[in-house]
Amino acid sequence: MSDTAESSVLSHMAANWNPTQWNFNPPEVEDNPGKPRRHPVWKDIPDHLWNDWRWQSQNSLRSIRQLKDLLPFSSEELAAITDLELEYKTAIAPYYFSLINPEDPQDPIRLQSVPSPLEKVNPSGYELEDPLDEEKDSPVPGLTHRYPDRALLVSTHVCSMYCRFCTRKRATMVRGGWEAVSRDDQRMVQYVREHPEIRDVILSGGDPLTLPTTKLRFFLENLAAIPHVDIIRIGTRVPVTLPMRLFDESLIELISSVGKVWIQTHFNHPREITPEAAKGVQMLLRGGMPVNNHSVLLKGVNDDLATMRRLLRGLLRIKVRPYYLFHCDPVIGAGHFRTSVWKGIEIMEGLRGHMSGLAIPTYVVDSPHGGGKIPLMPNYLVSASDDAVVLRNYEGLLVRYQAQDRPATIQTTATRGVSSLLQGTNSALVPENSERIARRKKTTKRSAQAQQQAETDEQIVARGINEAKLGNIESMEGDCCPSNLRGPHSNGAGHISEEPPRQVIKLGIRRRRTTRKRAT
Ligand code: SF4
Repeated sequence: MSDTAESSVLSHMAANWNPTQWNFNPPEVEDNPGKPRRHPVWKDIPDHLWNDWRWQSQNSLRSIRQLKDLLPFSSEELAAITDLELEYKTAIAPYYFSLINPEDPQDPIRLQSVPSPLEKVNPSGYELEDPLDEEKDSPVPGLTHRYPDRALLVSTHVCSMYCRFCTRKRATMVRGGWEAVSRDDQRMVQYVREHPEIRDVILSGGDPLTLPTTKLRFFLENLAAIPHVDIIRIGTRVPVTLPMRLFDESLIELISSVGKVWIQTHFNHPREITPEAAKGVQMLLRGGMPVNNHSVLLKGVNDDLATMRRLLRGLLRIKVRPYYLFHCDPVIGAGHFRTSVWKGIEIMEGLRGHMSGLAIPTYVVDSPHGGGKIPLMPNYLVSASDDAVVLRNYEGLLVRYQAQDRPATIQTTATRGVSSLLQGTNSALVPENSERIARRKKTTKRSAQAQQQAETDEQIVARGINEAKLGNIESMEGDCCPSNLRGPHSNGAGHISEEPPRQVIKLGIRRRRTTRKRAT
């Protein structure tokens, strides 16, 4: 169907839908995958068409004329994005468009997919066409060889959706951009063949899963046949923006057949984790392809801790492993998506320790001058001496950690705070409001009571002596205040006492007597 014909059908359908009949109800509190959603303008489309990627592609929204029938725009906005249309492409499949809350101009799905007048603005002046200098590390057009054992192949400039923040928009979104480059697929594959140091090939684009089957087969089969290539990563947003593509068994069979493929996908917001996306991912997993995710930290989309946690939990639920969180690159027309690095650190601080380690991506800045990915994280190393380091955990616990088993070289000196950890007069400083320590106290109290019921006073004394010898006096004392916490390597004097502290014995006997009294 031509663009004009499609547009008039859509205009007719749009004219017949009543926005008040659609309770979008943004699923902010839903556990993802949430509910399937369908904009009412497509309510009469039979399921077999809705779930067909060809129908979704053919009916993708590709013009401002189509979008203005479905979303509110101010007249200035409309004028600006109509102008922008001459420069940048747009494509939004009905499936992905249905995830937008039309009443919210700042909707995170809308921000990612619908053109904005801000794309005309370069807020810092640092924005670049090729912020990662990919083309300078390109020995063959379309191939970037930056890291020692990896190569990236741009296999197409086509995507199922054009993400407004795309780093490679010079190739994907810009009209006529990449089409002007005489990429030679044979030469790219030949380069990999001739470089035995390349073990990991990233098939990227654009989106390789928009390639015709014959072209995709060419890349996969030729690359997989190279003995030194261990893995082929397909970088694709299809599981997010057009998951129906993965309902196609023949595509899964093809990808699965070469045996070396990993999928690198790109979910940015929890609302993208839908039943359809979950099904698409399941198809990949069943075909034997591990699925990893990278997200881009985007202002207004996922730059807050609660959203990021929901996204990461949702990904684990559908068995997608969060891999990278990229700081948004300084690409022309995407400056309005960029946040501070501090925002990224703040979010990472709220992840490590608070969530399963499997859910935690590595936060990276992709460096200018082609420097590649540089990981950033909150500081966990607080201080250091010749003997030990002071580390902090997510709760704010500061702990002395002796990495090597060797005699101390520092002479113990009475001091306070972090210095006391380095001097060996303390082994940990525990925050007063630690839920974990409060829980531990309760558990210790319960088990002490249970033990006391079964022990004689003499046994309690004997146990006190033994546990003190093992340095396990913290739980006997039931005292975890910051200045008194002692670990297995120290009882405060830097050595293990031969005698149990008197309060330990007394505490045990007192508890035992109280228990007996209650029992009678
Ligand atoms: S799918 Fe990937 S390559 Fe395509 S526009 Fe989005 S981010 Fe860019």
